[in-house]
Amino acid sequence: MSLPSNLEPRPVLSFFEQICAIPHPSGHTAALADYCAAFAAARGLPCRRDGAGNLLITKPAAPGYEAAPPVILQGHLDMVCQRQPGCPLDPEREGLDLAVEGDWVYARGTTLGADDGVAVAMALAVLDDPALPHPALEVLLTADEEVGMLGAMALDGSWLAGRQLINLDSEVEGEFTVSCAGGCTAVCRLPLTRSPFPGEVLEVSVSGLAGGHSGTEIHRGRANACRALARVLSAVNAAAPMRLISLEGGRRDNAIPAAASARLVTGDAAAALAAAEERGAELAEEFRATDPGLTVSAAPCFPGEVNPMTRADSEKALTLLTCLPGGVQAMSAHIPGLVEASLNLGVVETGPDALTARLCLRSAVDSRKTAMAEEIAALTRALGGGVEIQGDYPGWAYREHSPLRARMEEVYREQYGEKPVIQAIHAGLECGILAGKLPGLDCVSVGPNLPDIHTPRERMSLSSVGRVWRFLLEVLRRSR
Ligand SMILES: [Zn+2]
Repeated sequence: MSLPSNLEPRPVLSFFEQICAIPHPSGHTAALADYCAAFAAARGLPCRRDGAGNLLITKPAAPGYEAAPPVILQGHLDMVCQRQPGCPLDPEREGLDLAVEGDWVYARGTTLGADDGVAVAMALAVLDDPALPHPALEVLLTADEEVGMLGAMALDGSWLAGRQLINLDSEVEGEFTVSCAGGCTAVCRLPLTRSPFPGEVLEVSVSGLAGGHSGTEIHRGRANACRALARVLSAVNAAAPMRLISLEGGRRDNAIPAAASARLVTGDAAAALAAAEERGAELAEEFRATDPGLTVSAAPCFPGEVNPMTRADSEKALTLLTCLPGGVQAMSAHIPGLVEASLNLGVVETGPDALTARLCLRSAVDSRKTAMAEEIAALTRALGGGVEIQGDYPGWAYREHSPLRARMEEVYREQYGEKPVIQAIHAGLECGILAGKLPGLDCVSVGPNLPDIHTPRERMSLSSVGRVWRFLLEVLRRSR
């Protein structure tokens, strides 16, 4: 269904409607990119595309703005497709069923994809109107943001002449995002040797934790199941020396693990079980506010085929998990309450001849990320292992001097009668990737109110879109 034609802001909503009619899940944005390319061709605007699915449309400066530096408007083409159970419409293959209720636009039964379709719609609406005053524009629409920012990662920075970028991928009106964390994964590998050892086999597990996102929720002080398990095993080892057989916890390095378990051999099962119970009670008490479901259990189990680690390697494995740093590592000196650097031990696995631990490192300041990686590598090497860094991407550090932010704050104060919230997030954003590719980039991320993105409850506030649209036009008008 289409939207009632009396809704405002009409230029944005009419493009938004057309975007919603074209399925554009991550990995399948070519049809939407085709639509945008045809839009550009019809208006004689230069357009280029790359193999990653990114699209750049440029528009010359309006009269009087020829000397002004260009401004980049940026959003992503792909959307997260989710639907309610029983919803017959498949948003990956069909256009969305739009509906309006009061101030809200939503899609019946599915995600709306206003994250980030509204950015594409606003950008096209700016390009479409020949009467708007603005400097030269570079509209950058990236592919596959929602599945690892693949488009931004692959982008050729030489495409862009502009060094001022307005990203339209925020979902709270009045919040200007001005910094984000970079990150990488550190994969620690500790070689293990195994040998037979008589004794009783026990399984020890930690479960029922709250878990959460390793960036945006790292400051909540929740228990990490792998680290909690190491604490239980330390108590067990102190009560009755043990040998580890296996250790498994977590699924992804960017999620705080909610469960972990280990199998071990001990010569004194009674002492080991008592120690596990006592340490479990301590942990439950320590984390009762953040992880009320935390449960530690220990029980005899059937011995498997696999020999335990040697005594020395068992100690090394336990030392690694005990001493790997974790949680918040530094707070921002610029933005109160913002985590600047953090670590999450996300996955631990043991194979026949090695233990692998995967940690997610995040920092808005790249040098802190390097420092954390060095700390982890030094510890792992001292224990006879090695570390590989994977998926490294740069952070977007706060800029004290930002003419773009100053201009946007001025327009915001005039339009809203108050100051915007200047904030940063402790997670990766495309702005960070782009800042790494465009030296000296001055960048701010804004957007209208979009509650419950990535869920079928996602909705978009019409009044908010109207205000942000007016705000954007005024910022462009003053960009000279
Ligand atoms: Zn988004």
